[in-house]
Amino acid sequence: MKKIFPLIVVLITLSVVGILFIQMSWINNAIKLKHEEFLREVDQAMKNTTEELQGAFLQKENAIFPNLQSKQYFIDNNFTIQYFTKDDVALIINNELRANKIKQPYEFSVNNIFGNPVISSEGFNVQEQNNSFHTLLVPKAMNPETLYLYIKEDKSTVLRQMGWMIAASILFTSIIILAFSVTVRTLFNQKKLSEVKSDFINNMTHELKTPLATISLAIDALTNDKVIHDTDKIRYYSGMIKEENKRMNKQVEKILQAAKIERQDIKLSLQKLDAHQLINKVADNLTLQIQEKNGTLNLKLNAKQHEIEADEVHFSNIIFNLLDNAIKYSRDPMHIEVETLSNREGLTIKVKDNGIGMNKETQARIFEKFYRAHTGNLHNVKGFGLGLSYVKAIVDAHNGKIKVESTAGKGSTFTVTMPFSI
Ligand code: ADP
Repeated sequence: MKKIFPLIVVLITLSVVGILFIQMSWINNAIKLKHEEFLREVDQAMKNTTEELQGAFLQKENAIFPNLQSKQYFIDNNFTIQYFTKDDVALIINNELRANKIKQPYEFSVNNIFGNPVISSEGFNVQEQNNSFHTLLVPKAMNPETLYLYIKEDKSTVLRQMGWMIAASILFTSIIILAFSVTVRTLFNQKKLSEVKSDFINNMTHELKTPLATISLAIDALTNDKVIHDTDKIRYYSGMIKEENKRMNKQVEKILQAAKIERQDIKLSLQKLDAHQLINKVADNLTLQIQEKNGTLNLKLNAKQHEIEADEVHFSNIIFNLLDNAIKYSRDPMHIEVETLSNREGLTIKVKDNGIGMNKETQARIFEKFYRAHTGNLHNVKGFGLGLSYVKAIVDAHNGKIKVESTAGKGSTFTVTMPFSI
């Protein structure tokens, strides 16, 4: 299955190259055919010209012949171009060329048996004689004269006539290539998504299994004879179960949040909120976690206007997720800062940390669902890659904006701007 995909790509690429090759050879053939048609038309025009000249000659002589042979005999022995003026010849050539749909300018010359010109148009260049079409005016004459016609094939007309064909094949080939590249890209994306999803499932299993195992151990301990009469121990193990339960709840909550934005059913229950008050509340809830890591959280809530129209639960989740990440991806000593400012656009909330930071590639992708930066074994933080995609979806639903600035190894700043009212 893994090898089929590259095989298909190779086969389609080969087919597209093959089609291109066939089209080019078709176009080439068509150009060749057009060229041959041109040669045939000029030949025909020349042949007709000689016939016309012979006919005109007979008319001038006003002769009557009993049969065709005697007529031909007369022509063979008496015809010469000297009976005609340059203009007579030019007119006949002109008519014959036009009759054969040839419109390009031309030059001509009629040479005697010694190769000297008897009649020629003004622009005829002797140097071009070898590149000219030529025919004997009377092949069986004693001193046959040769008509030279210098005419250039108009390649641009050929190209113009073929233009629509070339344009259509370029158009269709481009459509095929475009459709092909879109398909390949979609396939790649699907492949990446399925990898990311299986990563997510592994992650989730691990995340849920750990608290389950701890709970199971705690319950075993609780039923132990030595523990069952010791209230301190019972309290300790029950606390542990409660803590793990809370952790599991948090994980399930995150997955549910993601499912909600997947189904696009984010229902905002909007109300006027004091953003500062909510930020303080979330920060309070995280105090323990921050203290555990010996970190500091500095709140610079400077916004003059801090009442916004938002959904209380979702807004708190935004702040929680950003602070939770700042703690998760921190380095020692941990310093986190939350700053607020108000301007015409609304309330701006900056969550700044001095943690592990991220490179540009990671920054471009963190708002994608399931995306997690591969930090190797350097920083083994657990997560589902859902937090920020949820934050972005909620900020968008409030018509707000979110951006990230970060330097790998130095820290990150997430800036959320929420309009005062939607
Ligand atoms: P999770 O934290 O569960 O992996 P998130 O959607 O919250 O999922 O974050 C996506 C990724 O963005 C994280 O895996 C991490 O690589 C990166 N990230 C998020 N916040 C920070 C931060 N404050 N510092 C460094 N990296 C971060």
